[in-house]
Amino acid sequence: MAYVAEEPELRIGIDIGGSKIAAGLVNRRGRVVSKKRISVEKQKAYAKVRDDIALLIDELATENGIEKARIERIGIASAGQIDNETGNILFSPNLGWRDVPLRADLEKICCVKTSIENDVNAAIYGEWRFSLLKCARNVLGVYIGTGVGGGIIIDGKVYRGFSNVGGEIGHITLNPYGYPCNCGNTGCFEAYCGGSYIAQRAQRRLKSGYRGKLWGILGGNSDILHAGHIEEGYLLGDELCETLWREVIEYMGAALAGLVNLLNPEIIVLGGGVIYGTQRLIDEVKPIVEKRAMAPSIKGLRIIRAKLEENAAIVGAAFIEA
Ligand SMILES: [Zn+2]
Repeated sequence: MAYVAEEPELRIGIDIGGSKIAAGLVNRRGRVVSKKRISVEKQKAYAKVRDDIALLIDELATENGIEKARIERIGIASAGQIDNETGNILFSPNLGWRDVPLRADLEKICCVKTSIENDVNAAIYGEWRFSLLKCARNVLGVYIGTGVGGGIIIDGKVYRGFSNVGGEIGHITLNPYGYPCNCGNTGCFEAYCGGSYIAQRAQRRLKSGYRGKLWGILGGNSDILHAGHIEEGYLLGDELCETLWREVIEYMGAALAGLVNLLNPEIIVLGGGVIYGTQRLIDEVKPIVEKRAMAPSIKGLRIIRAKLEENAAIVGAAFIEA
């Protein structure tokens, strides 16, 4: 596509997920003009994945007729803990990497200035800058997919905390005696509202013999179950779905209300697979947040759905300042 080659400023954003890596060519207006994906196996050796990413960058540039010298920056978004100084990924829960120098390696291989950021921070930054157009100074991003991640913008800047690992709102304890969470704690926000946890709870009941409208929705195959099916069952009056749905919105509402009391954001952006896969979740959570939060903290608050969806981390990583 010739128009891509003629774009004045181009950056590349890389989103490293648990099962795939996506690379996007991003123009200065934050639009992904071209994108490529590769799949990645769990626990894959670092050196191999690093080389695959470098190749992906090469292909993306070549296919769009762009010399690498014209790429302003490569921005990487990765789950896990990142050392801001060195650009190393200290721990990647998805890929099992520990202390790998991805930023330095890619910079050396590609000869392009490279930055690295936590994936949820990158996503909320992308939403803030290119979808909200920086219209608010204080924004909370909550991403509810298989797990729950958070990103916080305070006074127009991403809040990273003392050692760069702030914003882990998915692991706020909502109930000390609650469900076990993958992080080792019990009763985390994620353990109540993460898509994989909701699905597991429903699947357990189905495997122990629960039938009802949900069984029909799934055509008898509980393996395909996701949060959207729970909403569907809830709307049809399925008893199990109704219980699960109420639990999700009550805990999610309580978590958001607590965060509103703490941060007094102007906007809460909700994104992630569970949010995109359901129609009414945001509408039903709003009144619970309003009921539980302190009145002054919630005045003027807007709760909205993320717009950039799966491109948010790519776009944010390409532009976020370290
Ligand atoms: Zn947890």
